[in-house]
Amino acid sequence: MARSYDVVIVGAGPAGLMAARVAGENGLAVALLERKGAVADIRRSCATMFAIEDGYYFGERMYFNEDTRRFIFPVTGFSLPYDGPYKNFYAWHLYTADAGHMIRIGNYEANRAQGPQGRLSVTYSKQHLLQSLLADAERAGVRVCTGANVVDLRTGSGTNRVITAEGQSFEGTFVIAADGINSRITRLLGLNRRRTFYGTLQGMSYYMTGLDLPFPEAINYPMLFHKTTQYPVMIWIEPSPYAEDEFWVYCGGPSHPAIDYQAELDRCIAESPFKKWFPKPVIRKRQAHVGNIWSPVPAVVSRNVLIAGDAGWTVEAECTGAMMSGLKAANAVTEAVRDGRLDDTGVQSYSAWWRRHFADSMDHTEFLRILTSAAVGEDAAAYLNKLVTETLPCSLNPYTLLESVNAAIMGNTGRIQKERPDIFRMLQQAGSLSLSAQMKRFTLSGFPNA
Ligand SMILES: Cc1cc2nc3c(=O)[nH]c(=O)nc-3n(C[C@H](O)[C@H](O)[C@H](O)COP(=O)(O)OP(=O)(O)OC[C@H]3O[C@@H](n4cnc5c(N)ncnc54)[C@H](O)[C@@H]3O)c2cc1C
Repeated sequence: MARSYDVVIVGAGPAGLMAARVAGENGLAVALLERKGAVADIRRSCATMFAIEDGYYFGERMYFNEDTRRFIFPVTGFSLPYDGPYKNFYAWHLYTADAGHMIRIGNYEANRAQGPQGRLSVTYSKQHLLQSLLADAERAGVRVCTGANVVDLRTGSGTNRVITAEGQSFEGTFVIAADGINSRITRLLGLNRRRTFYGTLQGMSYYMTGLDLPFPEAINYPMLFHKTTQYPVMIWIEPSPYAEDEFWVYCGGPSHPAIDYQAELDRCIAESPFKKWFPKPVIRKRQAHVGNIWSPVPAVVSRNVLIAGDAGWTVEAECTGAMMSGLKAANAVTEAVRDGRLDDTGVQSYSAWWRRHFADSMDHTEFLRILTSAAVGEDAAAYLNKLVTETLPCSLNPYTLLESVNAAIMGNTGRIQKERPDIFRMLQQAGSLSLSAQMKRFTLSGFPNA
């Protein structure tokens, strides 16, 4: 006979762990199911920037306070202790594929001279954060089951049954689906059929030593392209929090059968114009990711299931958005249980919060437009990026990240029309296409879990 819980939480990433901690501390009976053998064993690529410090994001202005060693979320109204390692970074430098030109986003030297006040944000240890959330959840009496791969969900009146591949069954008055970007729960609920599928992203990352970077305390972003498909191959190098001389080196982009991102990353290190940045490369740890790009879920609460974090969003809620939504989902369940309103109406506070802070505050199509703006091919990207010579203001907000670059390029339309009418025509054509048409190439080579 399955044991019954107030809430069964699927997935122990930042969203699920935060939900478990809060629901446990609020006195609910909670089971947290995680398919990995160890919660803090991070295998999925993540840049672990504290995202973001430079403005409102998901309606929040989160930041790291290095004096109190706390991550602070003043709008949502909570903070978390963090005594793990971290590194500041001060600018974002975007390089053309030939390494001949760099767009400076944020003034590295001036920002660095200000210390923490001038930084863009910090990179931190996600492992440390997850471990500390897990310890809090366990202290609060949460039953944590690792090696529990959820394969089925049976929704019914009054209770939901969650079933694992290992043959275990858990009953919950409510379920919180925090199972990440490729959520099985949203698929089992039939929600993906009501979402637009835009394609699949994938990538590889290394924690590495033996680098010699011109700007080590910045995000270094060579904008490469795959030789035959001309798909953008994004390289991202940033300071790793784990050791003084260590960096996180990432390579990824849209999924395409012809592209092997590990081979592209190895090529960048060994053969590209950037190879001088890697004089004695040593790989300490490898990670990877594959993620489907969907429009946000049409409803964030469905049949007593609350969807938190990446599971209901477009690409990424970031660890910060994931934790905020986990906290809000757990508090909504707490209210429902206290009031005895054990159905979707009892957790309406979560739907309302999510609509306001996610769906209504962030337009996912803006994010996707930025993603497609890199898909112009190597020749056009090199020409266009070389037009940008001024230092641009920086934002880490992925919804506006490249806005200043695009604006600086479009300030040169007269020149582009004169010098490169072919590129001018291409930009005009792209501008007149719908988002779905622009994403069509990505969508065709993706693999939806509808
Ligand atoms: C390349 C890259 C760079 C990124 N950089 C940043 C960054 O700099 N800063 C930032 O804040 N965010 C970043 N992110 C995004 C961030 O990693 C996610 O937004 C965040 O981890 C989402 O948290 P989550 O709890 O919703 O999902 P996840 O962290 O994905 O956690 C989901 C959990 O559910 C488990 N699970 C999945 N399916 C099942 C199942 N069927 N049964 C049981 N368990 C299951 C998984 O094993 C996992 O532990 C990045 C992501 C990528 C891919």
